[in-house]
Amino acid sequence: MDTSSRFVAHHVGCLPKSGIRDFFAIVSQMRDAISLGIGEPDFVTPYGIREVAMRALEKGKTSYTDNRGLKALREAISRYVAQNYGPEYDPEIEILVTIGVSEAMDILLRAILNPGDKVLYHEPCYVSYAPGIALCHATAISVPTSAANNFALTADALRAAWQPGCKALLLNFPTNPTGGTADKALLEEIAAFAEEKDLLVISDEIYSELTFEGVHTSIASLPGMRERTVFLHGFSKAFAMTGFRVGYACGPAGVLDAMLKVHQYAIMCAPIVSQEAAIEALTNGREDMLRMREKYRERRDVIVRRFNELGLRCHLPRGAFYAFPCISSTGLDSMTFAKRLLQEQKVAMVPGTAFGPGGAGFCRASYSTSYENIIRACDRIGAFLDKVSKQADGPPPQ
Ligand code: PLP
Repeated sequence: MDTSSRFVAHHVGCLPKSGIRDFFAIVSQMRDAISLGIGEPDFVTPYGIREVAMRALEKGKTSYTDNRGLKALREAISRYVAQNYGPEYDPEIEILVTIGVSEAMDILLRAILNPGDKVLYHEPCYVSYAPGIALCHATAISVPTSAANNFALTADALRAAWQPGCKALLLNFPTNPTGGTADKALLEEIAAFAEEKDLLVISDEIYSELTFEGVHTSIASLPGMRERTVFLHGFSKAFAMTGFRVGYACGPAGVLDAMLKVHQYAIMCAPIVSQEAAIEALTNGREDMLRMREKYRERRDVIVRRFNELGLRCHLPRGAFYAFPCISSTGLDSMTFAKRLLQEQKVAMVPGTAFGPGGAGFCRASYSTSYENIIRACDRIGAFLDKVSKQADGPPPQ
């Protein structure tokens, strides 16, 4: 009998496992299943980027790099961020290349949090935020957003959730799982709140290129915010480079220096081949990125239209590649809906509660799958809803 769990630290032992992984495990065993579950582009990394990676290997680029990342990549990041988001960062001291946004978030939280510190985050949200904060012996303070308001974060909600001891505010626009975005006026209100409460803002902008309505604004570009914001970004989503595992953090030198310490002891550096590929993505990847974004937009429009036609109320997500329909009209809770849909119609969606209690009554459907799959999945969901409503009506009278 394995009794090794007695060695596990309490704060790790009591972390819940990600609710999404269970679904992937079932889907991978199922023939003819259609997955709307995965938060990963269905596109292969554009060929030009792969070619640069292959050439890097051919040239024997197999070494460690500078802990901060290749200088050429940091310079490319500095140019890309200045052009597309506004703030200018010094590649020598204000930019750090990481193993995806995942590592950037982890080392940032570890660099800034003392045990007992508190971090505000809006919820429903990406599954890693609250556990990442808990792993630092800190407390995650959720700021609920409401379905009635299409899950938009408001300054009033922030104010209501704030407590003494809050040190940072974690933002994610466009938002996983709701597809929500924040316009400049809202960001200005949030910025004023962050200044008033002296919060460090952690801004995860991994989906920013995948903004379909309006223009994406980074909170780091607002007056006075560059000094209190760490901008996190990466290549996984917009450039379809999840497997390369490369991302970056830009921010004030003092915080970046502390992150560098954690990074150099825990990780050393991101893989050199991935860094070479990332330079190519930033330099020549725009056309491919725009082509993929157009596909996502087409798929978003069809999936949202079909959900609403089927009676699953679904707001129009303004960014990322997720739709977040309300399933409460079926009378089922999110988990039962997702489990039954998978078992009875072989369509995988993620229960909204995987992203926090505010996701109750919703499911997340990723539209990073082909147009044809989306149509087939919606047909199957329609058949499932018919069955559920007949069951709710009960057997016909004898
Ligand atoms: N942040 C958000 C909001 C995400 O949805 C994800 C992945 O799904 C990540 C970060 C992790 O990205 P990366 O592949 O860069 O580690």
